[in-house]
Amino acid sequence: MEFKKIQLNGFKSFSEKTTFLIEKGLTGIVGPNGCGKSNIVESLRWCMGETSAKSMRGSGMEDVIFSGTSNKPSKNIAEVSINISNTEKSGSYQFKEIEEIEIRRKIERDKGSRFYLNDKEVRAKDAQMFFADLSTGAHSPSIISQGRIGSLVTAKPQDRRAILEEAAGISGLHVRRHEAELRLNAAENNLKRADELRRQLEKQLISLEKQAEEATKYKKNI
Ligand code: ATP
Repeated sequence: MEFKKIQLNGFKSFSEKTTFLIEKGLTGIVGPNGCGKSNIVESLRWCMGETSAKSMRGSGMEDVIFSGTSNKPSKNIAEVSINISNTEKSGSYQFKEIEEIEIRRKIERDKGSRFYLNDKEVRAKDAQMFFADLSTGAHSPSIISQGRIGSLVTAKPQDRRAILEEAAGISGLHVRRHEAELRLNAAENNLKRADELRRQLEKQLISLEKQAEEATKYKKNI
C-alpha cells in the first residue's frame, strides 16, 4: 500500500482545505519557522488514531481545531484524511480487493472524534489496527518528530523493540496480542468474581438448609 494524499481541513493552522500529494520518491515540505510543517506530521499521526493531546502539543484534543487568527474566525470542526492506494493488493485480508482506501478522522467541539474508513464509520481501534497491520501508526518509530532522535538513542531496550517489530512487519500482531491479553485479564477477573459469588451463595444455602430443617422440626412438633 502507498500513501498518496493527506487532506487537512480546519486542523491546527490549516483553516481551509489543504491537500498534500505524496508522489513517488521523496516529498519535502519547506517553509519558515512556525509555518505549520510540524502540524502536517501531527495531522498524519492524529488521523492514524493518536489519543494523547499532549503529543499533539495541546492540553485537550479539541486544541487541534483551528482556533482562529486576528482576521479569521475559529472553526468547530477539524478533519484529516489519508488516501492510500492499494493497487498491488497487499495489506490485511479485508482490504485485499480495495484499490483506494481513505481513512478520515473528524473532531467536532463537544462531540469528540469519529473515524471513517471509505466513508463508513469505524471505531478508533479499527483505524489504529488498519495502520498497525501496515506496520505503521501514530507511534511508529518511522515518524520522527522534533526531539525524537535523541529519545530513540536514549530509549530503553523495551521501547526500542518497537522499531524491530515494525521492521519485521509484526506491529499488527503485537497490538492484537495486547488486546487478547486485556480480554484474558478481564475474563480472569470475571471468573474470580463468579467464584466469590458461588462461595457466598453456598454459605447462604447452608444457613437456609438449617432454617428449613428447624422449620420442619417445628412443624412436626405442632
Ligand atoms: P518550526 O520549524 O519552528 O518547528 P513549524 O513549521 O513546524 O515550525 P508548527 O509548529 O507546525 O510550525 O506550527 C506552529 C503554528 O501553528 C503556530 O503559528 C501556531 O500558532 C499554529 N497553530 C497551532 N495550533 C493551532 C490552532 N489550533 N489554530 C490555529 N493555529 C494553530
